[in-house]
Order: sequence, then structure tokens, then C-alpha cells
Amino acid sequence: MDSQPKRFRDYAAALSDFEREVWVQCPQCQQTALSRGLEQATSWRLTCTHCAYSKTASRRASQRKPMPWWRTDWWGEYRQRAGAVDPLFGLPLWLQTPCCGHVLWAYNPDHLDFLETYITATLRERQGGKGNHHGIAVRLPPWMKLAKHRPGLIKAVQKLRARSQPLRFS
Ligand SMILES: [Zn+2]
Repeated sequence: MDSQPKRFRDYAAALSDFEREVWVQCPQCQQTALSRGLEQATSWRLTCTHCAYSKTASRRASQRKPMPWWRTDWWGEYRQRAGAVDPLFGLPLWLQTPCCGHVLWAYNPDHLDFLETYITATLRERQGGKGNHHGIAVRLPPWMKLAKHRPGLIKAVQKLRARSQPLRFS
């Protein structure tokens, strides 16, 4: 029952919720690091438990896609990686994999659960033959809603889940 309310939420709104904990690749040791939102979600701290790398970044609430404070090529990186970078530090996401000519990415395992729910629920809706234009998955990228991509998407979700398994942050 816990996952029920999630199904009907706006994807863009949900995405900003998931920003509060983003798994990224550490710029120093290339292993998993964690970017966590601090109070009021106006500043974030990046910490790596493998090499003790640490940074803090902040942004004003009014800025939707700010430039991370020490990077000048953030948008270039964002485009090159098909959006699979974290929104504050511009670092590559840990949970990303090529999928159907695109990149499937998730900020964290909860986000991955959320995507999986959407992908499988859309499949159920289609099988039921109902066109629900106001329900779930409306805001997902169009390529993720194509029936021909579904087997690839499900495989990619499983791949990302395997990538997140050995790691748990407390
Ligand atoms: Zn590190």
C-alpha cells in the first residue's frame, strides 16, 4: 500500500524529492559518493566514504537549474550525459545505464523503485486497453513510454538495481 500514492504523483515534482539524496561518482576516486540535501533543501553536501572527499554546494530556491558553483561546463556535461548528472554538483550519476539508444538513470534506489513502478504500471494499463492521459507516467520522457522499449527498460532497471545492491548508505 505504501507505493500507491506515488503512482499518481507528478513526475517532475517527484524528481525534486529524490534530489535530496543523489548517488554520484566521486570525482576523486570514481567510486560511489552521496550528495545529500541539507536543511530547507538549499544546500547539499557531497561525501565519499571511500576516499573522504567532501564538498558543499548551495543554490537559491528560485533557481531551477543552477550551475554548480565550481564548474563552468555544467550544461555541456548535462547534455553529453543525457541528463544523467546530479543537479547540484554536475557529477555523473552512479545509477545510469545505456537503454534503447538513450540513458536510463536514477538519483537513488527509491527513484529506481519509482521508475520501475511507472514502467510496469504503464504496461498494465496498455494491456487493459484503457487510454489514461491524466494518470501515471504522463511526464516521463516519451521514449520511456514506447511499448517497443519496454523489455529494454525492464532489463535496464534490473541492471541498475544490481549496481545498487552491494551499497547501502545509512
Ligand atoms: Zn571518493
